[in-house]
Amino acid sequence: MSAPFEATLAWAQSQDAADPLRGFRDEFLIPRHEGRDVHYFCGNSLGLQPRAVRPALSAELDSWADQAVEGHFRGDLPWMDYHEFVRDDLATVVGAQPSEVVAMNTLGVNLHLMMVSFYRPTPERHAILIEAGSFPTDRYAVESQVRFHGYDPATALIELKGDEANGAISMEAIERVLAEHGSRIALVMLPGVQYRTGQAFDLAAITRLASRHGCMVGFDLAHAVGNLPLQLHDIGADFAIWCSYKYLNSGPGAVGGAFVHERHARTTLPRFAGWWGHDKTSRFQMGPQFVPTYGADGWQLSNPPILALAPLRVSLEIFRRAGMAKLREKSLRLTGYLEWLVQSQLGDVLEVVTPGDPARRGSQLSIRVLGGRERGRALFDDLVERGIIGDWREPDVIRISPTPLYNRYADCVAFVEATRRWAQRG
Ligand SMILES: *Cc1c(COP(=O)(O)O)cnc(C)c1O
Repeated sequence: MSAPFEATLAWAQSQDAADPLRGFRDEFLIPRHEGRDVHYFCGNSLGLQPRAVRPALSAELDSWADQAVEGHFRGDLPWMDYHEFVRDDLATVVGAQPSEVVAMNTLGVNLHLMMVSFYRPTPERHAILIEAGSFPTDRYAVESQVRFHGYDPATALIELKGDEANGAISMEAIERVLAEHGSRIALVMLPGVQYRTGQAFDLAAITRLASRHGCMVGFDLAHAVGNLPLQLHDIGADFAIWCSYKYLNSGPGAVGGAFVHERHARTTLPRFAGWWGHDKTSRFQMGPQFVPTYGADGWQLSNPPILALAPLRVSLEIFRRAGMAKLREKSLRLTGYLEWLVQSQLGDVLEVVTPGDPARRGSQLSIRVLGGRERGRALFDDLVERGIIGDWREPDVIRISPTPLYNRYADCVAFVEATRRWAQRG
């Protein structure tokens, strides 16, 4: 059987010309390097700027200049309701009901706010299950919550180690740890996509399993949102949190998001409250008693940062037009092409760390250079100098993320050709 791909630039360019999503690239500002567009493989870290962001920001600055406080009530997008203007698109991206999502704060803040409500430890059940290689914020947040409740992380933090080659975690390993410790686990807190290995988790299976053991389930979707199609409502996770500056292209430090399942919409669980989470119809009566608004909105603390929400609104509008299903379709093929190129052209130089099963990854390949860390670092630095932008994760991983909104098949060829030239120079 002949390969479905070819390694030449001409073939890659023919694929780009036939790509039904090709027009979206023009909606982004691509950084330049020596007079040409860079090959940007870092959309999993900081997505590129949509061209529509600057006018959207200008419009809000104009509104502030021209209307000042009246901007809260006037114009097409009154600030008072501004977070509602991103709600439907956000819900679509994560597969939720509109009332289940809210754009607010940043990921780390939302993780703490969610844990206030959904980590309710008791002496019999106070452990949290996380993965051993978790992102620092996740580890710091759960550890500090455990301490805050007066428990000892040494026993209350259960860290699941990768049991597969290259550090991926199998479903069997998750089953085993829950079979052994499930009755003392209060919260299962796992990523949608692991940031270092690029492994995508089966969120539906994890939720089913953890719920069967009586645990709450929360997901950190930093690397999953805008990358994989999600069905948070249907799978029934208790909560999820994410940031919006990675695949969602909403700018550095963008407003993050949270999902709270509908069954908790009117929960009496404790929460940290603020006036923006108060029932909207009576918020401005400014009463002393907090009455939470229905759904995820009830976890808001403050009136939202309009200048930071404007890019998210613009960016989600792009996702609406492109559609997650179409983005995933291209992502599967584009990432598959990059993997095929690496394995067929560079098998003597690189190895792919990310799971080979396309169902277990998104738009990211984590790659290791054969011969060790120093060689890996040397290749990474060489690529950056040539305008090929991935990122480096200690101790020895180069992450290359071909994203379907603005990456091309030709970018993948450029990566492979530059790596080949580097390897030939020794
Ligand atoms: C990017 C990322 C974060 C970042 O958290 P912020 O609060 O947005 O700074 C947290 N967790 C994971 C898993 C990430 O990938």
